[in-house]
Amino acid sequence: TCPLRSVEEATERTSLLLSPTRTMASHIVGYPRMGPKRELKFALESFWDGKSSAEDLKKVSADLRASIWKQMADAGIKYIPSNTFSYYDQVLDATATLGAVPPRYGWTGGEIGFDTYFSMARGNATVPAMEMTKWFDTNYHFIVPELGPDVNFTYASHKAVEEYKEAKALGVDTVPVLVGPVTYLLLSKPAKGVEKSFSLLSLLPKVLAVYKEVIADLKAAGASWIQFDEPTLVLDLESHKLQAFTDAYAALAPALSGLNVLVETYFADIPAEAFKTLTSLSGVTAYGFDLVRGTKTLDLIKGGFPSGKYLFAGVVDGRNIWANDLAASLATLQGLEGIVGKDKLVVSTSSSLLHTAVDLVNETKLDDEIKSWLAFAAQKIVEVNALAKALSGNKDEAFFSANAAAQASRKSSPRVTNEAVQKAAAALKGSDHRRATNVSARLDAQQKKLNLPILPTTTIGSFPQTVELRRVRREFKANKISEEEYVKAISEEIRKVVVLQEELDIDVLVHGEPERNDMVEYFGEQLSGFAFTVNGWVQSYGSRCVKPPIIYGDVSRPKPMTVFWSSLAQSFTKRPMKGMLTGPVTILNWSFVRNDQPRSETTYQIALAIKDEVEDLEKAGINVIQIDEAALREGLPLRKSEQAHYLDWAVHAFRITNVGVQDTTQIHTHMCYSNFNDIIHSIINMDADVITIENSRSDEKLLSVFREGVKYGAGIGPGVYDIHSPRIPPTEEIADRINKMLAVLEKNILWVNPDCGLKTRKYTEVKPALTNMVAAAKLIRNEL
Ligand code: GLN
Ligand code: ZN
Repeated sequence: TCPLRSVEEATERTSLLLSPTRTMASHIVGYPRMGPKRELKFALESFWDGKSSAEDLKKVSADLRASIWKQMADAGIKYIPSNTFSYYDQVLDATATLGAVPPRYGWTGGEIGFDTYFSMARGNATVPAMEMTKWFDTNYHFIVPELGPDVNFTYASHKAVEEYKEAKALGVDTVPVLVGPVTYLLLSKPAKGVEKSFSLLSLLPKVLAVYKEVIADLKAAGASWIQFDEPTLVLDLESHKLQAFTDAYAALAPALSGLNVLVETYFADIPAEAFKTLTSLSGVTAYGFDLVRGTKTLDLIKGGFPSGKYLFAGVVDGRNIWANDLAASLATLQGLEGIVGKDKLVVSTSSSLLHTAVDLVNETKLDDEIKSWLAFAAQKIVEVNALAKALSGNKDEAFFSANAAAQASRKSSPRVTNEAVQKAAAALKGSDHRRATNVSARLDAQQKKLNLPILPTTTIGSFPQTVELRRVRREFKANKISEEEYVKAISEEIRKVVVLQEELDIDVLVHGEPERNDMVEYFGEQLSGFAFTVNGWVQSYGSRCVKPPIIYGDVSRPKPMTVFWSSLAQSFTKRPMKGMLTGPVTILNWSFVRNDQPRSETTYQIALAIKDEVEDLEKAGINVIQIDEAALREGLPLRKSEQAHYLDWAVHAFRITNVGVQDTTQIHTHMCYSNFNDIIHSIINMDADVITIENSRSDEKLLSVFREGVKYGAGIGPGVYDIHSPRIPPTEEIADRINKMLAVLEKNILWVNPDCGLKTRKYTEVKPALTNMVAAAKLIRNEL
C-alpha cells in the first residue's frame, strides 16, 4: 500500500479502527496560508490590481482558513492554531495589532484596514513600503517593525480574536497564536532619526499593555490556550535580552491566569541559558521545542524539566518535505514521556509548516516511489496525529508499517545511492583544495590574455526575459515546438544580446541566460538526484512563493549543461564571453535537501558536478567563468557556535568547483547582498579572481569593511546601480559612486557592473542604464 493518503482517507480508516477518543495530544505550530494551489496569492494579486473586491479577498481567505481548521480537526489534532493565517505577514499583523503604524502612512486611528495594512507591506503611490527581511534562516521574509520612543501603541487590529471566534463558530476550539512580545521587539528596528541611545526593549511596558488587552479579549471569547511564538530564544542572546523575557512574562502573568500558555521556540537548539530562562517564566505552562534541529535541546530536557508543565515536542519537521521516520520519533517521544509524564507530552511540529509545501495530493508528476518518501504540510498533520495516537496506545499498525517500508525503500533505492559519487565526495573531505598560484599572479596572467581596460565593465548574467522568451521555453517544454525551433529562437536571442553589449561597448560579455527559467531549477533539471514538484510552493514574502527542487539522491552530471550555449555565444564575439553557472552552496540553500546525510556532503557532490562543467567550459575556450553564490550567506546557521563550520565547508565546496582551471582562466563569483562584513574573511577565502556584489542600496556599509583595512587583492565589482528599481541612474551619479569606491579600493582591482542580473527589467530601462554605466566608467578612466 502507498503510505501517502489524503487526510480524508486517513480519517475514514482511523474511525473504522478506533473509537474517536481524544486523549492523545497533538499540536501544529502553524500552517501555510497560500492554499494548496496558491489561492491566496491569486486573490491578493487580483485585489491589488483592482480586479476584485475586498469582499472577494476576504471570502477566499475565510474559505482557506475554514478548510485548514477542518482538515486538522478531522485528522484529530487537539491543539489547532488560529491567527496563523495572514494577508501578508504575521509580524506585520502584530504591528497592526499594536497600532505601531509609522507616521508616513497617515493612519489616524481606528481599526486598521486593508489600505493602511497593504501600504505598510507594499508601499503606495507616494510612500515606500516598510523594510522586509529574512525570518531567521528561512526563505520567508517579514516586515520589520519601525519603532521609536513616540509610538503610541493602541489595540488597532482585532484579527486574533476574530479568527478565534470564526473557528469557534465552525465548531473548532483553537489555540490563538501571537508573535511573542519580546521577539517582536527584538526583531524591530529603531525608526529613522531616533537617537542612538534609544533601546527598543524600553518599549516593553507599552507593548505589554496592548498584549493584555488582546489576552483579555481572547479569554472573554472563550480561549483556554494561547501560544506565543518566541523563536528569538534560540539565538545567542545577551543576558539583558533574556531578562526581558523574564520581565515580560512576569508582567503578563496576572492577565494570563486561568489560561494555559505555550511559549513556542523553533529553528535551532535552544541555548542552555535560554532554556533556563524559558522554563522559569511565570504564567507559562507549556514549552515548545524544535527537536528536529535541536538535538541538544533533547539533552537539556533530559537534564531537567519543570514538573507539571507541558512539553510540546516538535518531532515532525516543518522545514522539509520528507516523511517522518515514525518509529524513530515514537522512540524519542516515549523517552520523553518518562521525563515529563504521560499527560504532559504533546506531539508537535518542529516549527510552523509555513516553510514546507502544502499538499502532496496535488503532485501529479512525481512518481509513486518518490512520493512515498515525502510528506507535505497536509501529510505532516496526519503524521503528528499518528504519533500522538501511538503514544496513547492506539497505534495504527498499518500506517506505521507503510511508513517503515517507505523509509527502508528510500535507504536502499538505487535512485538514491551512486557509489562512485559517494566515494569521490568522501575523498574530498579531509583535504584542502586551492588553486596553486596566488590571486595577484593569476590576475596578471589573465590580464595578458584578456587585455581589459582599467575599470572593466560587465553585467551579472541575465538580460530581460520577455514574454516571447517565456512562451518559447514553455512551448518547448510542452513539446509544442521542435528542438530545432527552440534552439533557433534562443540562439537568435543570444545573438541579439551579444550585439547589444558590443554596441554598448561592454568589456566582458554575457549570453543573457534566455534558456533559464530559474538559476537553480535550470541546473537541477540537468543533474541527477533532483526531483521537481508542480505545486510545491512555499511562501517567500507577501503573495510571492518559490518552488524549491527536491534533492533526493546522490548528485551527478550526466552531460555538459551550459557548454553549448556559452560556446555559441562566444562564437558571436571576439570579446570575452563569461560562462555562467550557479554555485553548489546556492543550489543547496535554495532546494529542499536530503535529511539522510549532512548538508556538507550534498554540497560536495554538487561541487563535483559543477567542477566538471567548469572544466568543460574551459576546454571549449571560455576564459571567464562566473559561479554565482547568491545564497551563500543564507545558509549561515543561527547559532554562532555552528557558523565557522558551515563557512568552512561552504567555501571549500566553492573552491572545489574551480581548483582545476589554469591560471589564465578567470573565475568570477556573484553575491546578492552587501551585508557581508561579518563573513568577509570567508569571502576572501573563496579565492575567486573577481567578485561582483549587490551594493547599490548600502554603499557605505560595504565600503567601510575596506576602509577599516581589510586587505582585498582580488577583483571586485560592487554594484554601481540598483537593478531592483526601474529608475535610470544618470552618468554623473554612477561616476560619483565609482569615485567613492576608488577612495577605498585600488583602481586596478575595481570592476564596474550593475548590482544583480537584469532579468526582471525591461530593455527600455536596461539600454539607457547600461549606456550611462559604460559612459561613467569611461569618464573616470580618462581622469585616472
Ligand atoms: N547570474 C544570475 C542573473 O544574472 C544571478 C542572479 C542572482 O544573483 N540572483 O540572473
Ligand atoms: Zn544577485
